[in-house]
Amino acid sequence: MKKSTLALAAILTSQLAHGSALVQKDDVNGVLKFMTQINYVGPLATDEIARASSTEISNMWNESKAHVNYKGRDYKVKFVIGYSVNAALNRYVRTNSCADNLVKIDKLTQPGDRSFYGLYGRGGTFYTSDDLGHSTTAAHEFGHGLGLQHNDGYQLDAQVPGIMFARGTLVKKMFQWDPNAEPGMPGGSINPKYRHVRAEDVAAIDLSGLTFTNGYACLGDGAAIPVKLSKVIPQLPAIPRIQMESGHLSSIRIFADELRAEENDAI
Ligand SMILES: [Zn+2]
Repeated sequence: MKKSTLALAAILTSQLAHGSALVQKDDVNGVLKFMTQINYVGPLATDEIARASSTEISNMWNESKAHVNYKGRDYKVKFVIGYSVNAALNRYVRTNSCADNLVKIDKLTQPGDRSFYGLYGRGGTFYTSDDLGHSTTAAHEFGHGLGLQHNDGYQLDAQVPGIMFARGTLVKKMFQWDPNAEPGMPGGSINPKYRHVRAEDVAAIDLSGLTFTNGYACLGDGAAIPVKLSKVIPQLPAIPRIQMESGHLSSIRIFADELRAEENDAI
């Protein structure tokens, strides 16, 4: 292991368990806004990978247009995801805000390696072999950052596979790698591309520990300090459900391209 890799590994394990999102509570408009700035680091981090991964996270977590009940009141939930790239970074630039996350982009070295994100963590590692931004992997990993664990591995009744269904989960045949395979046999488990963030997945985020100060709180621990997010992924217009069911990922990509021009630095 090279010295720089070692340093980054130490950084990743020691400083990331402080919550993955800054939550803003807007009582006037009834909105809970989850804000995360993901800093993509390591020599393999590119603007393309960063943009694709953060776009997938934003699109998927906003797709259900979920509402949650918080302390007896209904709130719309929005996810505002920004990103930055620093391929040369070999130390964690510590900020006090829980909005700041750090993801190392890496290449698979062991066959068993999987992209990961700390539970309520402020980052993790994404492997380039996971077709980042086009496979639902980044959105799934971000779910762990929001404190979500995997669903049970037997989901044969699920009409829409949830984002926290792990690889290997048994689902209806239409959602398998091979729709003709018997569940549990080769090809007979979930093809992750069919995963969606459902309203129930957003509702599973545990909000009970949030402590708001001046309208801001941290999911997990950390300091609820507002930050100016850079390169914010634009919010998508509603995607017709029929499009989502017949290959929503490609349609999302088209929307994202169309909206690229509207990107700005404001929250
Ligand atoms: Zn997972």
